[in-house]
This record gives sequence, structure tokens and C-alpha cells, in this order.
Amino acid sequence: MHLLGIDALSREAIVRLLDRADTYFNAAREAKASSAPIATSRALAGRSVVNLFFEASTRTRVSFEVAAKRLGADVVNVAAQASSVSKGETLLDTVKNLAAMGTDVLVMRHPASGAPHFVAGRTPLHVVNAGDGAHEHPTQALLDALTLRRHKGRIEGLRVAICGDILHSRVARSNALLLGKMGAKVHFVAPRTLLPAAADELGAHPGDIEVFDDFDMAIRGVDAVMLLRIQNERLASLSMVPSTAEYARTFGLTAARAAALPDGVLVMHPGPINRGVELAGGVADGARSVVLEQVEAGVAVRMAVLESLFEAAA
Ligand code: ASP
Repeated sequence: MHLLGIDALSREAIVRLLDRADTYFNAAREAKASSAPIATSRALAGRSVVNLFFEASTRTRVSFEVAAKRLGADVVNVAAQASSVSKGETLLDTVKNLAAMGTDVLVMRHPASGAPHFVAGRTPLHVVNAGDGAHEHPTQALLDALTLRRHKGRIEGLRVAICGDILHSRVARSNALLLGKMGAKVHFVAPRTLLPAAADELGAHPGDIEVFDDFDMAIRGVDAVMLLRIQNERLASLSMVPSTAEYARTFGLTAARAAALPDGVLVMHPGPINRGVELAGGVADGARSVVLEQVEAGVAVRMAVLESLFEAAA
């Protein structure tokens, strides 16, 4: 069993993962509150998880490692730069070699859209997509959904503004699909140069997404504002954004804009934040921000995902 994208998950499967992740989230919170050690289980004892990352990562890689260890699995981290990929080995040969060592799960991040889909099925490993190019980042959308559900009690009927570099964002794509499947509406807002063609068709159903040019209009009436970093590593040309200062003024959640939001509107960001560009530093640290809670939810969601791989295969 693999987790390659939100695309392939039913609404019921999403709810099952969120319910299980919620239990892990609560257990970790309770332990932290009483300064007790966070309980580990033996659910994945004897299994090994390989983190194979061809792009930079802090939160995703570390939280997959923490999640796997909390479930009793062994974890191996492979930084692609230090592997034989740098000597010309193909992706598939690398993965086949990892599988030959008897590993069980491949958590993979790759700059090419579709790379985990290519590998899945060509090896006996369970493959989890930890971000493929500008395509999908399913565990990010799941942890965002868990954060929203914990604060709002539901996902259905919510409105979420997703703001910034939607063109290059796998986070935007996975969130648009998940929120649509769960009955929420999405507002996309970005400079025209950072919006994909037919952006309004990226949801799960027609009508899931409304596209805005104006940031202030886009955040009106929403339950959460999710900011995205400009993906400089994927930018085809620097002319896509005139200047950082102008971008921050036009498409950033500034302190003044955040202060004008009604009570209860959440501020979200998948990280890494470029403070002062898409999100003012004070807002990132402010009372509405659930950015670090998203990170907590990331461990819980990844535990639920890793565990589910083996159950579904049984
Ligand atoms: N961490 C997220 C990702 O890997 C968002 C970002 O890098 O801006 O897609």
C-alpha cells in the first residue's frame, strides 16, 4: 500500500487517517503537558523506514523520523547528495538497492512531479510521497486538515484562502483536493504570474475553488488564511515577481491585514516561512497563528499514515 497523493484517497479514508492522527496528537499533548515521555508503541516494530530526500526538508523529514520511531520502526535517512545518485546511479536502481536490504517503507521527496508514482509498483516497498515537484504533498494537506478540524470542529463548510505561489506549490494542490473532497471551499489568490492555467479546476469538484486577484477580497469571510512561500527553487524567471517589498505589500499577510481579520480566523503556513515576505513575523508568532500546531499535527498524521500502510496491505 502506498500514499502517493490526496487524489487517490476517498473522503472516508481521509477521515480515518485524521481520526487516528487526532488520537496520537492528544496523547503527545497530554504527555507534554505533564512533562511525561511521549508513549511509543510497537506497531511497526521490526519494520524499517527509509527517508530518501532529493530536496531540502526540515519538518517533513524529521517528523517522518519521529513518527516512525514512536511506532517502534527503525529509520534510515539517506541524503541524496551523499548517495551514489551523485555518481550517476538511477533513481530506480537506488530504490531497488534499498529494497534489497529488506527495508519496508520508502518516504521519498523528489523535484520531479510523479517520481514516487514511478517508483511505486516497481519495488516491493510501500512508497509515501513526501513532496514531488509542484505536484502533491499529501501528508502536508492531511496535517493542515487535522489542524483545521481541531480548531473548527469540522472541515465541511469551511472557507480557506490559499495565498502566494500557487503555480509551483504542491501544498496548494494537495490542499485544494483534500478540502474539496471534505466539502470546504478554497480561495486562491496570487499574482497572475504565479497562478497556474485553469487554477479553478484544481479542486476535487467544479466550484470548489474561486480565484482572486485581490488579496483583501480573497481573505474576506474565510475561516483560515494559508500563506505559501515563493518557491524560488522552481521559479522559471525572476520577472515572475517584481520585488519582494511590492509582493509583501500586495500579496503578504501584513500586521495591518491580520489585525483587521475577524476573531477566530486562523493563520497557517506549511513552512519554511520567509518572514516579512508572505507573512509578517509578528503575525507568524501571534495569537491567530497555528503554524507550530501544524508541525505537531505533522508527527501525528505521519504516524497514522505509516501505520495504515501495513493494515491496508494485510
Ligand atoms: N515545505 C513545503 C514543501 O515542501 C512548502 C515549501 O517548501 O514552501 O512543499
